[in-house]
Amino acid sequence: MVRSRRTTSGHRGELRETPDSACHGLVDTVTGEGPGGRRSGREDGVAILAVRDLTVRFGGIVALDAVSFEVAAGQIVGLIGPNGAGKTTLFNCLSRLYTPERGTLAFEGRSIQDAPPHRIPALGISRTFQNLALFPSLTVLQNIMVGVHCQSRGDFVSSAFRLPAVRSEEARIRAEAWALVTVFELEGVADQRAAGLPFGTLKRVEFARALAGRPRLLLLDEPAAGLNHEEVAALARLIREIRDERDVTILLVEHHMGLVMEVSDRVVVLDFGRKIAEGSPAEIQQHPDVIRAYLGVAPGETALR
Ligand code: ATP
Repeated sequence: MVRSRRTTSGHRGELRETPDSACHGLVDTVTGEGPGGRRSGREDGVAILAVRDLTVRFGGIVALDAVSFEVAAGQIVGLIGPNGAGKTTLFNCLSRLYTPERGTLAFEGRSIQDAPPHRIPALGISRTFQNLALFPSLTVLQNIMVGVHCQSRGDFVSSAFRLPAVRSEEARIRAEAWALVTVFELEGVADQRAAGLPFGTLKRVEFARALAGRPRLLLLDEPAAGLNHEEVAALARLIREIRDERDVTILLVEHHMGLVMEVSDRVVVLDFGRKIAEGSPAEIQQHPDVIRAYLGVAPGETALR
């Protein structure tokens, strides 16, 4: 097993009162579907995401250096690498928070590079954030309702006058959010404000909120941070269940190697912005460049030569 050189996460349950890109846009003008609309007959194995030659620089730092890989529809792909490898930068490119200097990003065969960040969830891509992006003053249920609301088709006038259709839409949103509360076993805190809840609980809320938009591609940024051993085991089961039952492809950034190796179909490894390996979990665990990146030495080498 490859062990991460990161030993502590240092995360706290700090929340910003700023909305993330959880809820934007009503109808996808690229695909013509509503947000979260399912494509019928999705072909497993076909690339849902194609990253080509992606390069991002911050001044003199090359955060991503010509990174290319594909994610097949229906797979769980682990994206790993030591601290500073470029994982979050890649997620930020996919969320369109960063614009790459070079390279292309295609989702379901179409470029997403011209899509503004607020349209990404409507295109079918949701994400969670390493350090959370929830509304602290809303309850857990309300935070998840925000995610469901992304696929609501209510218009301004109907909402302003609270027409009957709006009331039934609200009931649907509440019911759908509550269903996710039960999936993530958040019933006990559903009516509590997010502010002050433990970090591990908030990670689950954010995961539920990301799923609420019915994405076809889910970007999970360190979902195991702050979780104990039993909670990580439960998270592994949940990630697989969600992929199997909700028709979601998952790209997983995670430092917990046990979780990555257990749930991933494939693993992509970054180090100093470059892709150094890609393969099955078993291949990655044996890969000399991966072992060298994490431990500083490859098998058979001694560190003190
Ligand atoms: P971690 O596992 O610690 O979260 P990571 O693999 O997600 O690390 P990134 O956060 O993507 O790594 O960072 C890649 C490199 O780019 C690092 O050297 C980081 O300091 C740098 N970097 C990331 N974002 C910025 C930014 N906004 N401005 C300047 N440098 C940045």
